[in-house]
Amino acid sequence: MMTDWEIRRSIVHYGKLVHRAGFVAATDGNISVRMMEDRLMITASGSALGNLDPAALLYVDFSGQVLQGRGKPSSELPMHLTIYKKRPDVLAIIHTHPPISTAISIAKESLSQAVLPEVVIMFGEIPIAPYATPSTDEGAKVVESLIEHHDVIILDHHGAVTVGKSLEDAFFKLEKLEHAAKTLLTAKQLGKISPLSEEEVKKLKAVRQQLGYK
Ligand SMILES: [Zn+2]
Repeated sequence: MMTDWEIRRSIVHYGKLVHRAGFVAATDGNISVRMMEDRLMITASGSALGNLDPAALLYVDFSGQVLQGRGKPSSELPMHLTIYKKRPDVLAIIHTHPPISTAISIAKESLSQAVLPEVVIMFGEIPIAPYATPSTDEGAKVVESLIEHHDVIILDHHGAVTVGKSLEDAFFKLEKLEHAAKTLLTAKQLGKISPLSEEEVKKLKAVRQQLGYK
């Protein structure tokens, strides 16, 4: 098990990575890690993921009460709490505003059509949660049912949330999401989208099952 300090350093590290990758700007986004049974560690409201202070992360319990740390927890805390409650297997959550994945929702496009074999194998499909006003309880409501079956969700007109068994796992899913969105966008710029055939999708879903993806 990682120590308190190792987790702080890990959140700072992945904060830098998501900022450098352009998945957030300024003080966008938030990151959390499930700690013991009764608490999680989360970034503070208004903190810049690219320049986090490891000492400024907060401990919060599952009713949303701050147990330790100064300032207010991220305004998307209700979404994080809902996800941890719904998914006991989830140990880390990253919420960001990846531009191309977000643009897909704005343009009413979809990443659910089967165009990339790796995405079908790893994610099955990537749903878009209905629009919710950011920083309100609405964000928790719109992901509540989707998170039961998906580790990667696009938030309509807003961003994305990815979850995993570690911060690295959640970050890799986020990278793959934005990469898939970029590939789809490029294909659309070049011409018509040609989805994989039903037969090929069936084969990919069998591989997905064999590999034990949720
Ligand atoms: Zn956001």
